[in-house]
Amino acid sequence: MIRANTTLRKFLLLSIAALAVVHLAVCLAGGQVIASNLIQFVAVLSAALLCLRRARESGDLHLRRLWYGLSAAFGFWSSAQAHYTGFLVVHGVPPAHPDLADFFWLSYSFPILLVASWERPKPSEQDWTRLLDVSQTAIAAIQVCVAVLMIRGSMVIDRVYDIQGFAMLFACAIRYSTTRGDEERTFFRDLTIFVLCYDVFGLLTQIIPQSQLERGSLRDLAWSLSFLTFSALVVGLPNREGQSAKAKAPAIFLPAHIHGVSALGLVLTSVASSVLLLIYHVSLGLWGLTAACAVFAARMALRESKLYRTQVELEHDNLHDRLTGLPNRVLLERELERSNAADAGKSFLLLLDLDRFKIFTDSFGRAFGDQLLTHIADLLRSTVRTGDVISRFGGDEFVVVLKDCGDELKVKEIADRILHRLSAPILLDQRIVHVTGSIGIAAFEEGRSTLDLLNRADAAMYMAKSAGKNCVHFFDRSILDRAAEDLEMESDLRQSVEDGSISIAYQPIFTVDTQRLVAFEALARWEHPKQGSISPERFIPLAEETGLILQLGMQVLTKACFQVAAWNREFGKSVCLGVNVSGQQLAEKGFFAQVEQVLKDSGLDPSLLRLEITESVLIKNQERVAEILQAACASGIEICLDDFGTGYSALNYLVHLPFHTIKIDRGFLRDVEYDMTRAMLVRTIVQLAKNLSKKVVAEGVETVAQLDFLASVQCDLAQGYLLSKPLSAERTRDFLKSLLVERGTSYFQLCLEPSLKA
Ligand code: C2E
Ligand code: CA
Ligand code: CA
Repeated sequence: MIRANTTLRKFLLLSIAALAVVHLAVCLAGGQVIASNLIQFVAVLSAALLCLRRARESGDLHLRRLWYGLSAAFGFWSSAQAHYTGFLVVHGVPPAHPDLADFFWLSYSFPILLVASWERPKPSEQDWTRLLDVSQTAIAAIQVCVAVLMIRGSMVIDRVYDIQGFAMLFACAIRYSTTRGDEERTFFRDLTIFVLCYDVFGLLTQIIPQSQLERGSLRDLAWSLSFLTFSALVVGLPNREGQSAKAKAPAIFLPAHIHGVSALGLVLTSVASSVLLLIYHVSLGLWGLTAACAVFAARMALRESKLYRTQVELEHDNLHDRLTGLPNRVLLERELERSNAADAGKSFLLLLDLDRFKIFTDSFGRAFGDQLLTHIADLLRSTVRTGDVISRFGGDEFVVVLKDCGDELKVKEIADRILHRLSAPILLDQRIVHVTGSIGIAAFEEGRSTLDLLNRADAAMYMAKSAGKNCVHFFDRSILDRAAEDLEMESDLRQSVEDGSISIAYQPIFTVDTQRLVAFEALARWEHPKQGSISPERFIPLAEETGLILQLGMQVLTKACFQVAAWNREFGKSVCLGVNVSGQQLAEKGFFAQVEQVLKDSGLDPSLLRLEITESVLIKNQERVAEILQAACASGIEICLDDFGTGYSALNYLVHLPFHTIKIDRGFLRDVEYDMTRAMLVRTIVQLAKNLSKKVVAEGVETVAQLDFLASVQCDLAQGYLLSKPLSAERTRDFLKSLLVERGTSYFQLCLEPSLKA
C-alpha cells in the first residue's frame, strides 16, 4: 500500500515536487511549448495511474468503483493531452478549436460527475437512479460530441469549459460535505480540492494578459499543478480511516439528497451543451434539452417517491409497535383525544396487564417473551370487534378501547372473554405455557382527560392484581381512596421504620417426631399508631415497593440475632434463627458483609442463622442467589428455600443450588389429611428433598392429623399454630422457660396435650 510504505511515499512525493519545479523552470525559460505540454501529460497520466493503483488496493467494492471512475476521467484528460501534444510535435502548431482534444477535455468531467453521484449501494435494493445518471452522462457526452463536430470558434468552447468546471465543483463540494465514512469522505475531500485548484487555475489563466499566454507554458503549468496537487494529496496526506467520529459529515443534508444534487451537475453540463447546439442547430439543441430534462425529471420523481415511501414507513413506525404491529401509546392517545361527549358512559377503556410476564422472559429469554406478546396481540385482535382500538401500551400492557359498547355488564362479558381465551394453554416454541392477565376498566366520562382515563384504568388494574390477579376490576371512587390510604400508610411505615418501632414475633419450629424446639422464625410486626396491628401481608409489599424493606429487613435481622443469641446464652442452648430476606436485600452489594457484621456483633454462631429466600426471588435473581449461597456456605450460614411450591422454580435449581432446607408452603398442608393429591405431593417433595440431603420444614401445621401425616412421611420439622403461634419477645421467653420447667428435660420440648390429640 502506498500509504503504508513510507519510503515509497517519500519517493513519490519528491518526484511530484521535482516535476512541479521542472515545469516552473520550463515556464520561466519561456518558449518551451512542447516540453511544457509533455510535462503536463506526465502529470495527468501519473495521477490517473495513482487512481488505478488505489482502486486495485481497495478492498471496498464501492470505493474501488469511485477510484476507477476517477482514473477514467484522468484517462480522458491524458488522451486529450496526448492528441494535442502529438499534433503540436507533428505540425509545429496547436490544433484549431474544436478538435478531438477538446472532445476528450470536455468528456473528462462526466466520470467525475458520475462519481459524485454514486452512493454506496444498499443491498437488496434495485436502484434505477444509477441507470438514469449514466444515461444523463451519455446525453451530455453525445451533445459535446455533436457540438465539437459542428461548432467552430474557440469562444463558445471556452464557455462550455467554464460550465463544466462549475458543475464539477458544485457536485464534488456538496458530495464531500454530505459523505459519511472516513475513507469515502477523504476521497471526496481530495477530489474537491483538485477541482477547486483546476477551476481557480483555469480562471487565472483567463485573467493573465494574452501576451503571457502566448508563451503557452504558463497555462500548462496551471493544469499540471492541479494534477500534481491531487497526486500529492492522494500519496502524502495521512489516512483518516478509523479516526474519531468528529470528522463525520454534518447532518444538514440527508444522504438521500445527494443523488439529486450531484445529478444537477450532470444536467448543468448537458443543458450547457444543448444551449450551444440550440445556437447552431435548433432542432438538435431542442432534442438534447428535452432529453436532458426528461431524464432529470425521471430521476427526481424516483427520488421523491422513494422519500415519500420512507416518510410513510417512518410515520407508521412512529405510531405503531414494532413487535406486534398494534397502535402504540402515541397513536392511542391521539385516538382517545378524538373521542367525544357521545362516548361518555357507553365507551370503555380496558387495560390488560399480563400476570408474571417477567418470569417468562427471565426463564425462557426475551425472544420467547416477544413471541408470547405477538401471540397475545393476535388473540386480542380476534376477540374484539374490528372497530375497537387495540394498542400495546408498553411492556406487557395492552389497552383495548371498546367504543359504543353499551353498559358495564356487556363490557364485563368482553373482559371475561379476553381472560378466558388468554388462560387457555399456549403452545409456543415447543413449550406449553399458561398465561393470565389482570384487567382494569374505566368508563369514558364527559370532560375527563385522556390521562385521567388511563390513570383510572391503571388503578383499577392494580386492584385486580391485588385481588389475586387473573380477574377484572372496574374503576370506582374507593380505588382512589385506597390509593390515598396507601400513601398515608407509606409515610407512617417510613416513620415507624425510622423510629425502630417495628417489633418482632418469634414462631418456634419443632422436630416432627419428638417435638423438640430447634428454631425460631423471626416475623416482622407493625403496630400502627391509629389502625392497630397491620398484617405483614400488607406492609411488607408496601415496604418492598418503596424500598423501605432494606432498612426494615436489616432491623429485623439485627434485633432477632441479638435476641436469640441472648436466649441461647441464658438457657445454655443453641436454637436456630430463621430470618426472611427479600429480593431487594439480596440485590444489595454489601448485604452479605452486613449479615456477617451482625453475627459478629451479636455473637450468634453463623451455623445458627438460616436466611429464608422465597422461590419467586430465586427466579428473578438467579445469579445473585447463587453468589449468596456460595458465600453463605463458606461462612457456615444456612439458606432455606421458603414457600416451596408456590413459584415456578424448576427442579433444576433445587438440584444445583446448595440450599440446606426447603420450607413447604402452607398451602400444601391445607386439607392434606383428606386430599390425596396434596398428600402425594407433600410426600414426593419430602422424599425428593431427602434424596438431595436437604432438611424439610412444613409450615402452617394447624391440626394433629396434619402433624401425624407429616410424621408418616418423615418430614423433619414443623411450624404452625398447632405447635405455637408467633409470639412476642417476652412471651417467647416465658414459653421457653415453661417448656424447660414443665417437661424437666435438658432441651425445650413440647408435649401436645392428650386432649388436643384426641
Ligand atoms: P412466611 O415467611 O411464609 O411466614 C410464615 C407466615 O405464616 C407468617 O405470617 C406466620 O404467622 C404464618 N403462619 C405460621 N403458622 C401458621 C399456621 O398454622 N396457619 C396459618 N394460617 N398461618 C401460619 P405473617 O407473620 O403474617 O407473615 C407473612 C409473610 O410476611 C411472611 O411469610 C413473610 O413472607 C413476610 N414477612 C414477615 N416478616 C418479614 C420480614 O422481616 N422480612 C421480610 N422480607 N418478609 C417478612
Ligand atoms: Ca418465611
Ligand atoms: Ca413461608
